[in-house]
Amino acid sequence: MNDDFVRLSRIVHGGRVLWAVTAGKGALQPIASFTDHTPRGEPIGEGEVRLLAPVEPSKIVCVGRNYLAHARELGNEPPEYPLLFLKPPSAVIGPGEAILIPPVSERVDYEGEIAVVIGRTCCDADERQVRECILGYTALNDVTARDLQKKDGQWTRAKGFDTFAPVGPEVVLTAPEFDWASLEVSTRVNGELKQSGKAADMAFSIPFLVAYISQIMTLAAGDVIATGTPEGVGPLAVGDEVAVEVTGLAPLVNPVRAR
Ligand code: ZN
Repeated sequence: MNDDFVRLSRIVHGGRVLWAVTAGKGALQPIASFTDHTPRGEPIGEGEVRLLAPVEPSKIVCVGRNYLAHARELGNEPPEYPLLFLKPPSAVIGPGEAILIPPVSERVDYEGEIAVVIGRTCCDADERQVRECILGYTALNDVTARDLQKKDGQWTRAKGFDTFAPVGPEVVLTAPEFDWASLEVSTRVNGELKQSGKAADMAFSIPFLVAYISQIMTLAAGDVIATGTPEGVGPLAVGDEVAVEVTGLAPLVNPVRAR
Protein backbone atom coordinates (compact mmCIF):
# COMPACT_ATOMS: atom_id res chain seq x y z
CA MET A 1 0.00 0.00 0.00
CA ASN A 2 1.20 3.51 -0.81
CA ASP A 3 0.59 6.10 1.90
CA ASP A 4 0.85 8.95 -0.63
CA PHE A 5 -2.75 8.22 -1.61
CA VAL A 6 -5.58 9.56 0.53
CA ARG A 7 -8.18 6.84 1.00
CA LEU A 8 -11.85 7.09 1.96
CA SER A 9 -13.48 4.37 4.04
CA ARG A 10 -16.76 3.53 5.75
CA ILE A 11 -16.04 2.15 9.19
CA VAL A 12 -17.69 0.72 12.26
CA HIS A 13 -16.23 2.23 15.42
CA GLY A 14 -17.74 1.98 18.90
CA GLY A 15 -20.95 0.61 17.39
CA ARG A 16 -21.35 3.59 15.03
CA VAL A 17 -21.00 3.70 11.24
CA LEU A 18 -18.77 6.58 10.10
CA TRP A 19 -17.11 7.85 6.93
CA ALA A 20 -13.39 8.52 7.32
CA VAL A 21 -10.26 9.44 5.38
CA THR A 22 -6.68 8.35 6.04
CA ALA A 23 -4.85 10.84 8.25
CA GLY A 24 -1.19 9.84 8.42
CA LYS A 25 0.27 6.53 9.45
CA GLY A 26 -2.29 4.11 10.90
CA ALA A 27 -4.88 6.82 11.62
CA LEU A 28 -8.33 7.55 10.21
CA GLN A 29 -10.06 10.93 10.47
CA PRO A 30 -13.87 10.73 10.68
CA ILE A 31 -15.59 13.11 8.23
CA ALA A 32 -19.10 14.55 7.89
CA SER A 33 -20.29 12.32 5.04
CA PHE A 34 -19.35 10.57 1.79
CA THR A 35 -19.57 13.91 -0.06
CA ASP A 36 -18.59 16.35 2.74
CA HIS A 37 -15.06 15.61 3.95
CA THR A 38 -15.08 18.17 6.80
CA PRO A 39 -13.33 16.54 9.82
CA ARG A 40 -15.62 15.44 12.67
CA GLY A 41 -14.07 14.48 16.03
CA GLU A 42 -10.70 12.93 16.82
CA PRO A 43 -8.65 10.57 14.63
CA ILE A 44 -9.11 6.83 15.25
CA GLY A 45 -6.48 4.06 15.04
CA GLU A 46 -6.92 1.79 11.98
CA GLY A 47 -6.72 -1.22 14.30
CA GLU A 48 -9.85 -0.11 16.19
CA VAL A 49 -12.28 -0.22 13.27
CA ARG A 50 -14.03 -2.69 10.99
CA LEU A 51 -14.25 -1.70 7.31
CA LEU A 52 -17.58 -1.78 5.49
CA ALA A 53 -18.05 -1.46 1.70
CA PRO A 54 -16.83 2.10 1.00
CA VAL A 55 -19.77 2.96 -1.28
CA GLU A 56 -23.59 3.09 -1.13
CA PRO A 57 -24.41 3.19 -4.84
CA SER A 58 -27.78 3.87 -6.43
CA LYS A 59 -26.49 1.67 -9.27
CA ILE A 60 -23.44 -0.30 -10.35
CA VAL A 61 -22.77 0.04 -14.06
CA CYS A 62 -20.54 -2.68 -15.48
CA VAL A 63 -18.59 -2.96 -18.71
CA GLY A 64 -18.26 -6.33 -20.46
CA ARG A 65 -15.36 -7.48 -22.65
CA ASN A 66 -13.21 -4.38 -22.07
CA TYR A 67 -9.91 -6.28 -22.16
CA LEU A 68 -9.34 -7.88 -25.55
CA ALA A 69 -7.69 -11.08 -24.27
CA HIS A 70 -10.63 -11.72 -21.90
CA ALA A 71 -13.19 -11.23 -24.70
CA ARG A 72 -11.32 -13.82 -26.75
CA GLU A 73 -10.97 -16.34 -23.89
CA LEU A 74 -14.79 -16.55 -23.72
CA GLY A 75 -15.02 -16.85 -27.52
CA ASN A 76 -16.26 -13.28 -28.13
CA GLU A 77 -15.11 -10.69 -30.64
CA PRO A 78 -13.78 -7.42 -29.19
CA PRO A 79 -16.67 -4.92 -28.98
CA GLU A 80 -17.11 -1.93 -31.32
CA TYR A 81 -18.63 0.08 -28.47
CA PRO A 82 -18.84 -0.49 -24.68
CA LEU A 83 -21.10 -3.37 -23.66
CA LEU A 84 -22.98 -2.30 -20.52
CA PHE A 85 -25.00 -4.10 -17.86
CA LEU A 86 -26.10 -3.37 -14.29
CA LYS A 87 -25.58 -5.06 -10.96
CA PRO A 88 -28.13 -4.23 -8.23
CA PRO A 89 -26.94 -2.29 -5.15
CA SER A 90 -28.32 -5.17 -3.04
CA ALA A 91 -25.40 -7.32 -4.28
CA VAL A 92 -22.79 -5.14 -2.53
CA ILE A 93 -20.74 -6.62 0.31
CA GLY A 94 -17.63 -5.26 2.03
CA PRO A 95 -14.17 -6.65 2.71
CA GLY A 96 -14.17 -9.91 4.67
CA GLU A 97 -17.85 -10.67 4.02
CA ALA A 98 -18.70 -14.00 2.41
CA ILE A 99 -19.61 -14.50 -1.25
CA LEU A 100 -22.54 -16.96 -1.15
CA ILE A 101 -22.82 -19.55 -3.93
CA PRO A 102 -26.51 -20.09 -4.77
CA PRO A 103 -27.62 -23.73 -5.10
CA VAL A 104 -29.10 -22.97 -8.56
CA SER A 105 -25.63 -22.38 -10.11
CA GLU A 106 -22.89 -24.93 -10.76
CA ARG A 107 -20.31 -22.42 -11.97
CA VAL A 108 -19.67 -19.14 -10.13
CA ASP A 109 -16.66 -17.16 -11.37
CA TYR A 110 -14.57 -14.34 -9.92
CA GLU A 111 -13.94 -11.25 -12.11
CA GLY A 112 -11.43 -8.84 -10.57
CA GLU A 113 -12.02 -5.25 -11.74
CA ILE A 114 -10.97 -1.64 -11.31
CA ALA A 115 -14.06 0.29 -10.14
CA VAL A 116 -14.59 4.05 -10.54
CA VAL A 117 -16.50 5.82 -7.76
CA ILE A 118 -18.57 8.88 -8.69
CA GLY A 119 -18.30 11.89 -6.35
CA ARG A 120 -21.03 14.15 -7.70
CA THR A 121 -23.90 14.20 -10.19
CA CYS A 122 -22.68 13.62 -13.73
CA CYS A 123 -24.92 13.90 -16.79
CA ASP A 124 -24.06 14.27 -20.51
CA ALA A 125 -20.41 14.90 -19.67
CA ASP A 126 -17.46 14.72 -22.04
CA GLU A 127 -14.15 13.07 -21.16
CA ARG A 128 -12.74 16.27 -19.67
CA GLN A 129 -15.88 17.06 -17.64
CA VAL A 130 -16.21 13.57 -16.14
CA ARG A 131 -12.84 13.93 -14.47
CA GLU A 132 -14.42 16.57 -12.19
CA CYS A 133 -17.23 14.13 -11.24
CA ILE A 134 -15.02 11.20 -10.23
CA LEU A 135 -14.20 10.80 -6.54
CA GLY A 136 -11.68 7.98 -7.00
CA TYR A 137 -11.37 4.26 -7.52
CA THR A 138 -11.58 0.97 -5.66
CA ALA A 139 -11.60 -2.78 -6.36
CA LEU A 140 -14.73 -4.74 -7.27
CA ASN A 141 -15.27 -8.46 -7.79
CA ASP A 142 -17.93 -8.88 -10.50
CA VAL A 143 -18.97 -12.32 -9.27
CA THR A 144 -20.86 -14.12 -12.05
CA ALA A 145 -22.91 -17.33 -12.28
CA ARG A 146 -21.37 -18.26 -15.65
CA ASP A 147 -23.78 -21.11 -16.38
CA LEU A 148 -26.83 -18.89 -15.78
CA GLN A 149 -25.29 -16.08 -17.87
CA LYS A 150 -25.11 -18.46 -20.86
CA LYS A 151 -28.52 -20.01 -20.17
CA ASP A 152 -30.47 -16.74 -19.76
CA GLY A 153 -28.97 -14.76 -22.64
CA GLN A 154 -29.33 -11.58 -20.59
CA TRP A 155 -27.30 -11.20 -17.46
CA THR A 156 -29.45 -9.84 -14.63
CA ARG A 157 -29.78 -13.13 -12.76
CA ALA A 158 -26.19 -14.28 -13.34
CA LYS A 159 -24.71 -11.00 -12.11
CA GLY A 160 -27.34 -10.00 -9.56
CA PHE A 161 -27.34 -12.47 -6.68
CA ASP A 162 -26.90 -11.07 -3.16
CA THR A 163 -23.16 -10.92 -2.27
CA PHE A 164 -22.08 -10.91 -5.96
CA ALA A 165 -20.51 -7.41 -5.72
CA PRO A 166 -17.70 -7.30 -3.16
CA VAL A 167 -16.30 -3.72 -3.14
CA GLY A 168 -13.36 -2.11 -1.33
CA PRO A 169 -11.55 -2.18 0.95
CA GLU A 170 -11.32 1.64 0.58
CA VAL A 171 -11.61 4.29 -2.15
CA VAL A 172 -8.41 5.97 -3.34
CA LEU A 173 -9.21 9.66 -3.94
CA THR A 174 -8.04 11.01 -7.31
CA ALA A 175 -7.42 14.47 -8.73
CA PRO A 176 -8.97 15.45 -12.11
CA GLU A 177 -5.61 15.04 -13.88
CA PHE A 178 -5.12 11.48 -12.52
CA ASP A 179 -3.46 9.06 -14.98
CA TRP A 180 -6.16 6.37 -15.21
CA ALA A 181 -4.07 4.22 -17.57
CA SER A 182 -1.52 3.70 -14.76
CA LEU A 183 -3.82 1.40 -12.73
CA GLU A 184 -3.40 -2.36 -12.51
CA VAL A 185 -5.63 -5.10 -11.12
CA SER A 186 -4.84 -8.64 -10.01
CA THR A 187 -6.89 -11.52 -8.61
CA ARG A 188 -5.70 -14.34 -6.38
CA VAL A 189 -7.64 -17.41 -5.29
CA ASN A 190 -6.23 -19.08 -2.15
CA GLY A 191 -3.05 -17.06 -2.73
CA GLU A 192 -2.54 -18.22 -6.33
CA LEU A 193 -2.35 -15.50 -9.00
CA LYS A 194 -5.21 -15.95 -11.52
CA GLN A 195 -5.63 -12.56 -13.22
CA SER A 196 -3.34 -9.63 -13.87
CA GLY A 197 -4.44 -6.67 -16.01
CA LYS A 198 -3.43 -3.12 -16.83
CA ALA A 199 -5.90 -0.31 -17.50
CA ALA A 200 -3.57 0.65 -20.36
CA ASP A 201 -4.74 -2.55 -22.15
CA MET A 202 -8.45 -1.69 -22.00
CA ALA A 203 -10.41 -1.47 -25.25
CA PHE A 204 -12.06 1.73 -23.91
CA SER A 205 -10.29 4.04 -21.46
CA ILE A 206 -11.77 4.82 -18.05
CA PRO A 207 -12.56 8.54 -18.77
CA PHE A 208 -14.15 7.51 -22.09
CA LEU A 209 -16.34 4.90 -20.33
CA VAL A 210 -17.56 7.28 -17.64
CA ALA A 211 -18.43 9.92 -20.26
CA TYR A 212 -20.18 7.31 -22.46
CA ILE A 213 -22.30 6.10 -19.51
CA SER A 214 -23.13 9.67 -18.38
CA GLN A 215 -24.59 10.28 -21.84
CA ILE A 216 -27.05 7.42 -21.22
CA MET A 217 -27.94 7.73 -17.52
CA THR A 218 -27.30 10.37 -14.86
CA LEU A 219 -24.59 9.19 -12.49
CA ALA A 220 -25.07 10.07 -8.81
CA ALA A 221 -22.58 10.48 -5.96
CA GLY A 222 -21.68 7.01 -4.74
CA ASP A 223 -22.43 5.24 -8.02
CA VAL A 224 -19.86 2.68 -9.12
CA ILE A 225 -18.59 1.81 -12.60
CA ALA A 226 -16.90 -1.59 -12.91
CA THR A 227 -14.56 -1.27 -15.87
CA GLY A 228 -14.29 -4.88 -17.02
CA THR A 229 -12.13 -7.87 -16.16
CA PRO A 230 -8.84 -9.03 -17.70
CA GLU A 231 -8.25 -12.59 -18.91
CA GLY A 232 -7.98 -15.46 -16.45
CA VAL A 233 -11.53 -15.70 -15.08
CA GLY A 234 -12.31 -18.99 -13.38
CA PRO A 235 -14.52 -20.75 -10.85
CA LEU A 236 -14.86 -20.28 -7.10
CA ALA A 237 -15.64 -23.14 -4.73
CA VAL A 238 -17.02 -23.18 -1.20
CA GLY A 239 -14.07 -22.70 1.18
CA ASP A 240 -12.01 -20.57 -1.24
CA GLU A 241 -10.69 -17.13 -0.41
CA VAL A 242 -10.58 -14.64 -3.29
CA ALA A 243 -8.54 -11.42 -3.26
CA VAL A 244 -8.75 -8.56 -5.79
CA GLU A 245 -5.99 -5.96 -5.59
CA VAL A 246 -5.88 -2.59 -7.36
CA THR A 247 -2.88 -0.20 -7.33
CA GLY A 248 -2.64 1.79 -4.09
CA LEU A 249 -5.06 -0.37 -2.09
CA ALA A 250 -4.82 -3.37 0.23
CA PRO A 251 -6.40 -6.49 -1.34
CA LEU A 252 -10.19 -6.87 -1.22
CA VAL A 253 -10.46 -10.32 0.41
CA ASN A 254 -13.67 -12.35 0.61
CA PRO A 255 -14.28 -15.95 1.68
CA VAL A 256 -16.66 -18.15 -0.35
CA ARG A 257 -19.52 -20.03 1.34
CA ALA A 258 -22.69 -21.89 0.32
CA ARG A 259 -25.93 -19.93 0.34
ZN1 ZN B 1 -17.17 -8.07 -15.23
